[in-house]
Amino acid sequence: MEATKTDVQERDPLPMLNGPFEGSERAAELIVRLRGFLDGELADLAREHRVNHEEGASRELLRAVWKRSHALGFYGMTLPDKMGGLGLSVLDQALIKEAIYATGSPFAPHVMGELSGPPRVGALARFATPYQMQHFILPVARAEKAICFALTEAEAGSDAGAVQTLAVQEGDSFVINGRKRFISGSPFADFAVLVCSTAEKPEQREVSALFVDLGAPGVRVESGYRTMAGQSSTGNIVFENARVPAACLIGERGRGLGLALGRITVNRLLHCPAMLGLAQVALRDALGHAMQRRQFGRAIGQFQAIQHMLADMATELAAARALMLHTARQLDAGAEGRAESAMAKLFCSETAFRIADRAVQIHGGEGIVQGSRVEFLFRVLRMYRVLTGTSEIQRNTIAKELMG
Ligand SMILES: Cc1cc2nc3c(=O)[nH]c(=O)nc-3n(C[C@H](O)[C@H](O)[C@H](O)COP(=O)(O)OP(=O)(O)OC[C@H]3O[C@@H](n4cnc5c(N)ncnc54)[C@H](O)[C@@H]3O)c2cc1C
Repeated sequence: MEATKTDVQERDPLPMLNGPFEGSERAAELIVRLRGFLDGELADLAREHRVNHEEGASRELLRAVWKRSHALGFYGMTLPDKMGGLGLSVLDQALIKEAIYATGSPFAPHVMGELSGPPRVGALARFATPYQMQHFILPVARAEKAICFALTEAEAGSDAGAVQTLAVQEGDSFVINGRKRFISGSPFADFAVLVCSTAEKPEQREVSALFVDLGAPGVRVESGYRTMAGQSSTGNIVFENARVPAACLIGERGRGLGLALGRITVNRLLHCPAMLGLAQVALRDALGHAMQRRQFGRAIGQFQAIQHMLADMATELAAARALMLHTARQLDAGAEGRAESAMAKLFCSETAFRIADRAVQIHGGEGIVQGSRVEFLFRVLRMYRVLTGTSEIQRNTIAKELMG
């Protein structure tokens, strides 16, 4: 029997999740099936291969997950319609992603290929040549290949336009030299969307985007360092006289930053459901611990200090979620939404971290020992205040919009 909007509504201890489901029937159906996939098949796979938030999956295992997710119709759901996407609204995408992360699964970033799959290329399809579609975009859409997005460098972080990796055109090729860092998914990717300088003089700023095969001579991925969240899915990419066909240039020369940041407003918003899904896990864990842990002859949840922490966590989560969903609806209605998306990214990331911090506090010593889930959530939610535009950069965007 097909899932309906009411099936998606399991009775939840978190009041803000018990209202009517606001997404479409299709989103409801996807959420029910995704929960089954993540909590069933993928949970078994994680147990079998000892994959958890600290120990990531091997490249081969990830490939198997992407392919299975593709076969079930999840992997490419965000692609444009003509590439097999489902034409989901921003609101639907936010609700689906929130539900994925709220399962707490270590495979959450992989079922939609968020790190290295379709969301990395969907928006580039309309600029891509037939050659680029054939060699790069379609293999990624079919879950046969993985792709990362390489912008950040040692001297170009928040100031993304300051990239110094240089691509010099020589006949039918670009010769690339430089070094990218902190690139998500690069340790298991086959390709990169490289954002680099094609300026002919050092005083010029001309940023372009190229598809690059990471297996090409002169390209090397350095992985092995771990972020504070544990897994090492982030790496550096080194280019030493790497030669890339000129046919890999995406769009026009000098338009790379626009291409790279073209969907920044929607992308900023679509980071919020991941944070809020994880914050839900932290709040549920804190609630469970408060009811079960006994001190001074009673459950610690009977102390008002603990109740107030839980109440603040729930209230802030409800506020952050309302802002996220409101912004999604605004974007669906055609709003530009630059300030609103920046506000949502700022507020959701700061709020989700505060929720995780209180969850650790409620767990006492158990929350501090490595291996407890709230301790992991605290670390991973700390990262979102830096990733995809720091909180300060979001405030800059909001202030700029306010002050015209
Ligand atoms: C786990 C992880 C995954 C990542 N994945 C990718 C990826 O896939 N692809 C990619 O290209 N990059 C990726 N990044 C890079 C990420 O986007 C950058 O780390 C982030 O944009 C900040 O840049 P930065 O680290 O150079 O910090 P900096 O820009 O050096 O910032 C340092 C501090 O200065 C502040 N600051 C800087 N400029 C201003 C300003 N104008 N006003 C006020 N404050 C300011 C910042 O807010 C911050 O507090 C990733 C990073 C991490 C840690």
